[in-house]
Amino acid sequence: MDQTVMVYIVLITMSGALHVILAIIAYMNRHAFEGMRTFLWFSCFIAIYAFGYALSLASTTIKGMEFWTAIQYLGMPFSAPATLILVLQYIGYDRHLNKKTYFLYYLIPSISFLLLVTNDYHHLFYQSVYLEYRNATPIMQITVGQWYLIHGAYTFGTLAIAFVLLSIYWFKGESRQTKQVVILLTGILVPIVASFSYLIGLTPSSLDTVPIAMLFSSSLYLYSIISTKFLLVPPIEKDYIFESMGDAVLVLDQTYHIKDFNKAAYTIFTNVNIGEHIAAVLGVDNQILPLLKKVHAESVILESEMGNGPSKEYYQVKISSIKRGESTIVGTTIIFTNITEQKKEQLNLTKLAYTDVLTQIYNRAYVLSIGEKMFASHDKMAVVLFDIDHFKKINDTFGHLGGDEALKHIANLCKSMVRENGIFGRYGGEEFILFLFGTEMKGAVVIAGKLRRLIEESPLHYNEKVINITASFGVAVKEKDIALSPLIHEADKALYASKREGRNTVRLAANGEYITLSSVIAAGKY
Ligand code: GH3
Ligand code: MG
Ligand code: MG
Repeated sequence: MDQTVMVYIVLITMSGALHVILAIIAYMNRHAFEGMRTFLWFSCFIAIYAFGYALSLASTTIKGMEFWTAIQYLGMPFSAPATLILVLQYIGYDRHLNKKTYFLYYLIPSISFLLLVTNDYHHLFYQSVYLEYRNATPIMQITVGQWYLIHGAYTFGTLAIAFVLLSIYWFKGESRQTKQVVILLTGILVPIVASFSYLIGLTPSSLDTVPIAMLFSSSLYLYSIISTKFLLVPPIEKDYIFESMGDAVLVLDQTYHIKDFNKAAYTIFTNVNIGEHIAAVLGVDNQILPLLKKVHAESVILESEMGNGPSKEYYQVKISSIKRGESTIVGTTIIFTNITEQKKEQLNLTKLAYTDVLTQIYNRAYVLSIGEKMFASHDKMAVVLFDIDHFKKINDTFGHLGGDEALKHIANLCKSMVRENGIFGRYGGEEFILFLFGTEMKGAVVIAGKLRRLIEESPLHYNEKVINITASFGVAVKEKDIALSPLIHEADKALYASKREGRNTVRLAANGEYITLSSVIAAGKY
């Protein structure tokens, strides 16, 4: 075999092996940064390219050469768009990358591969393929077809774009990792120069030098991974943090137009756009707007709700000014931290603190605390206390669960009757309490009478049986020099008077007597 070809094969195999090592490193660190996965693909493509080329050089028949060239084309054309994608990810220009765009990036290489393997039928890729001998070693030579030109242009084009984008990024001084950028730039430039020299015939006997040149760039990448953690840490940490933050960030300029925003912001404000006024994004009546002008040295923190019903989300909003130097304000940042979970938990705990678990109406402690407050601020107030009649019997007949259902049933019935001038809760086992604010004796007794009738007339259907329920009521009205708890005690005595009188009735506490409303009216006390 020809000496030069021999050296080529050895060097190209080494290059392939180095790319396999790179691929393994990339695979092990594939979670370090999005671009590492692309680098993994890139290394695999180059490894396939190198081994394919080495084996095609080692082949002695044209069929063998064609076969290994096809393998080679499973790698080479794909490596160029992979390089571009890697650069896009490196410079943080990757918002558009998704399955669809990946497909587009790899479309031309896929067509190239398909046309190459079917070349015998159309000669679009190679016009002709023939053997040339170098010191009796056969080497495959080609004359290019039409698609080959498209393939070449695409390969060069993507590499050139990658190179230019990375250069711009470098010149703009956006990276503090100069060494890494230079290495990546060199890595892109190497195959461009090598393939260019191959194309214009600078390489011996038209041997493709790119796989050998890649030996150099792969060594460079390997060195860089070891020495500068190349691609192992997100290259643009600042942007990366901004983008991958769970918190939504809006950056505004001095005139409150959107200057920048991150991915998380896009999930909350689907209408957010660069250049848009903040009022258009948040809605003109948003509570945040008036605060924007008030933010100077200190940040402003507030809580904000967004959405309605079950999709309601709670946010902690932090508004801070962006300063240049000591005092010049050049913009504002608004950070939205989703606190829905904590908030819901907090609301649940608060609810638990004032709700009776079984009936879901207010519990005794809460209803009494509100009663105390209202008692202090209202001259007129009435207490209505009621107790279910023969509840033990309900429990005995329908079981404890039936009893529970009866309690829920009564709670729901009465809840619906209570207006904003009253508060209703569970006072004890099967006893309920209702405070009526600004209500006089007659009004209170009338409401108690309505509740009594409502309960009597609304039997509970339970397990295909009917449970008839009644309750006995006691009413007491606030008078001068009386505190709340003796007033409740009076209502309780009136309630027991109702029990004594045969149950399912209302009694009113009046000067130590427990009487019906009609007797109050008859006695002229009302
Ligand atoms: P009265 O007409 O004199 O009020 O008769 P009563 O049977 O209703 O009287 P009592 O107060 O002696 O009985 C109340 C019963 O209520 C006793 C208790 O076991 C039952 N009870 C208390 N809390 C609950 C509860 O949450 N669920 C159920 N199912 N029963 C309860
Ligand atoms: Mg009872
Ligand atoms: Mg009782």
